[in-house]
Amino acid sequence: MKILIKNGQVIDPANNVDEKLDVLVADGKIAKLAKPGSISANDAEVIDASGKLVVPGLIDMHVHLREPGFEYKETIETGCAAAHAGGFTSVCCMPNTNPVNDSRSVTEFILAQARNAAASIYPIGAITKGSKGEELAEMAELHAAGCPAVSDDGKPVMSAAMMRRAMEYSKIFDMLVISHCEDSSLSGKGVMNEGIVSTELGLRGIPRAAEEVMTARDLLLAELTGARLHIAHVSTAGSVRLVRDAKSRGVKVTAETCPHYFSLTEEAVRGYNTMAKMNPPLRTAEDVAAIKQGLKDGVLDVIATDHAPHSADEKSGEFDYAPFGIVGLETVLGLTLKLVDEGALSLAEAIRKFTANPASILKMAKGSLAVGSDADITIIDRNLEWTVKASDFKSKSKNTPFDGWKLKGKAIQTMVGGKL
Ligand SMILES: [Zn+2]
Ligand SMILES: [Zn+2]
Repeated sequence: MKILIKNGQVIDPANNVDEKLDVLVADGKIAKLAKPGSISANDAEVIDASGKLVVPGLIDMHVHLREPGFEYKETIETGCAAAHAGGFTSVCCMPNTNPVNDSRSVTEFILAQARNAAASIYPIGAITKGSKGEELAEMAELHAAGCPAVSDDGKPVMSAAMMRRAMEYSKIFDMLVISHCEDSSLSGKGVMNEGIVSTELGLRGIPRAAEEVMTARDLLLAELTGARLHIAHVSTAGSVRLVRDAKSRGVKVTAETCPHYFSLTEEAVRGYNTMAKMNPPLRTAEDVAAIKQGLKDGVLDVIATDHAPHSADEKSGEFDYAPFGIVGLETVLGLTLKLVDEGALSLAEAIRKFTANPASILKMAKGSLAVGSDADITIIDRNLEWTVKASDFKSKSKNTPFDGWKLKGKAIQTMVGGKL
C-alpha cells in the first residue's frame, strides 16, 4: 500500500524542512521525501497537495475524552473523530474520568477502546489515587501500562509535600508531571476572572494569583527535585513571567496555553455566556498580549486545546452552576492560523507547537516526517475560508464560544499510520 502526496509545501519543524516536496508513504511509514516529480511510484495512490501544507500529524497533549464514566459528554470514539476532523493524529487524554485513570486497568481499558479510533491515544495517569490528593497513585504501574505523564488535571495537588514526592518518583520513570496550577483556597467558589467585569456582573472572581501562586510553587519544586514539569493551560501574564524566569535559570519546565487564552478576554463572559466559562478563566487584554509574546519567544512551548466536552443541558444552566470548559479540537488550528495571519507567530513556529514540541516533551516517536517515521500526516488548506458551525462538530458536545466565527485555514486530510 503506497500513497504519494504530490506538490505540497512540506513543513516539518523537527527536521527544519520548509519546502515544496513530494512525500511517499509505504506500509504506514514515511518512505521518501524528494523534489516534486522526482519520485516514480506507478503503484501508488496519488494525492494532489498543490497549494496545500503537508505537516506532521498534529498532537494535542491535553484533552478530556470523558470515557469511562461520562459517555453522554464524549466517548473515546467521538473524541478521536473530533481530533481527526481537526487535523490531530495523536491526543493525550486526562485522567479525570470515572473511575479516575490511576491504575493499570483503567489505562488498559482506554487503550483497548482506542484500538479502532480515528487517532492515537496516549493516556495520562493520575498523580494521586482518585486525584484526591491524599495518596500517590502507582506510578510504576501507570508507566508500564503506557502513560507518558501524570497529572491530577481538573484539580490541583494542594499539598506541596505530595507534589514534591510525585516529582521525586516521576524521575525514576522519567515521566512528565503536568500541573493544573490553581490554589483552590484562592480560587474558592469563583466562576470567572476577578476584576472589573466580575464586579459589574456580580459574579465571584478567581484572581490571577490563584494560578500564579501554584505555578511559582511547582517551579520551585521542579528546581528542588530536578523533575520534568509541564505547566498546563497558562492564562496569565504573571505565569508567563514565572515560566520565563525559571527557564532562564535552567529549571526543566515546559508550558502550554490554549486557543481561548489568546483569542478571548473576560469580556466574552458578559451576558452570562456559559460558553466563556472555563478554568482557568478568560483573563484581560494585557494577559492575552503576554500569552502571544510567550508563544512568540518560545516560553510557551505547546498549544493544546484542554478539549472539555459538556452536554447542552449542563452548559445551558445558570452561570454560577454551569461546568467549566469548552471543546477545542475542531477549532484550534483555525484560531492558531489567525494568530499567524496577525503576525504574532510564524507558520513554522505554530506547526512546531503542535508537532515537534509536544512529541519531544512527551518523548513520543511522533511529530516528525523523517523517513521511517509513522505516516501521521495532516494536509492543511491554508486559504480555505470557513465558518465555525458547532452543530457540525464530530464531538458529541457542542460547547464552544467560537460558533459562527469566520476562520481561514483548515485540515482537509488527516492520515494516521498511512490510513486516511
Ligand atoms: Zn486543568
Ligand atoms: Zn484539562
